[in-house]
Amino acid sequence: QAFNERESLYIALNFAKNLFVENLKSDEGRSIGLSYFKERGFTQEIIEKFDLGYALDSWDHMLKSGKKAGHSEEILLKAGLVLQKDDDKARIYDRFRNRVIFTIHNLGGKPIAFGARILTQDKKQPKYINSPETEVYHKSDVLYGLFQAKQAMRQADNCYLVEGYTDVISLHLAGIQNVVASSGTSLTEGQIKLIKRFTDNVTVLYDGDAAGIKASLRGIDMLLEGGLNVKAVVFPDGDDPDSYSRKVGGEIFQDYLKNNARDFIEFKIDLYAKESEGDPIKRAEVIRQVVQSISKIPDPIIRTVYVKESGRLLSIEEDIVLAELNKILLKGE
Ligand code: ATP
Ligand code: MN
Ligand code: MN
Ligand code: MN
Repeated sequence: QAFNERESLYIALNFAKNLFVENLKSDEGRSIGLSYFKERGFTQEIIEKFDLGYALDSWDHMLKSGKKAGHSEEILLKAGLVLQKDDDKARIYDRFRNRVIFTIHNLGGKPIAFGARILTQDKKQPKYINSPETEVYHKSDVLYGLFQAKQAMRQADNCYLVEGYTDVISLHLAGIQNVVASSGTSLTEGQIKLIKRFTDNVTVLYDGDAAGIKASLRGIDMLLEGGLNVKAVVFPDGDDPDSYSRKVGGEIFQDYLKNNARDFIEFKIDLYAKESEGDPIKRAEVIRQVVQSISKIPDPIIRTVYVKESGRLLSIEEDIVLAELNKILLKGE
């Protein structure tokens, strides 16, 4: 039977997924991989739902098993499962070794890539190794967890956006299914279009560190530009949605989200207000920052609503906000 290359890649990636899942049930997998997942509070059910797995501590387990199952070296390479040695292209070895595996699915649920987390604290190696771009994996057009979230996103008409694989999984464990991750890359237009297929409402839940806050500011403006309604929740410094939900438990976590989801305007005001109290020059900067985001909103009627709201929240005349907004909008033309 003749398959074209894309089909061969899908078949090889599905084979790899099954191998990683099986590995997790081997002696090595259970004592290293499964115990790691259990320590993080992952249940058997969630492990199966997300096709979590384990890559053996071996240079060629995937290569040998793949070839034995009829997948050519060329396809295994093109699928990103194995690599050529830099100085000797004829030598091929497994990309993922001695790591736990997060399977990345496409919208239809087919495995298209993998994220692999290190199990030690070894700072010399990257914490995560991800599949490269391939013919079937364009990472700027993929959201981790979307396959498992899409129905819930439609139902809730809202989507939680997180940074990492483990945040997605912990939210599911906390009873929240409408969650996707940008997986370390900064949010792209393609990812925003994907969200819009299911809902117009996004709540950004990025890590509570400086990097996370910076990423949320950028993400918020991109989401607004995409015509989405945007809220954000800030976590205590040092926590991310995963660590925080495990710390407080699912019920309190859900309440925290409800009580702390702020409109993007309030999010920005809160963020800048801390440093601007009583300082009129810094206060002017808050106004500019807020108006900057409002200017990204494509719909003029929604812009007007936010002009009113920010006037109220900042206790300044609406006309001042509007004048500042028009200045930015004119500049953009
Ligand atoms: P954990 O809780 O296991 O430490 P995390 O998701 O909190 O993981 P972060 O450091 O917050 O990890 O990174 C967020 C996401 O960014 C990760 O889930 C992963 O998708 C991606 N990422 C992090 N570090 C790397 C890396 N070294 N290479 C590639 N991607 C990375
Ligand atoms: Mn982080
Ligand atoms: Mn994190
Ligand atoms: Mn984390």
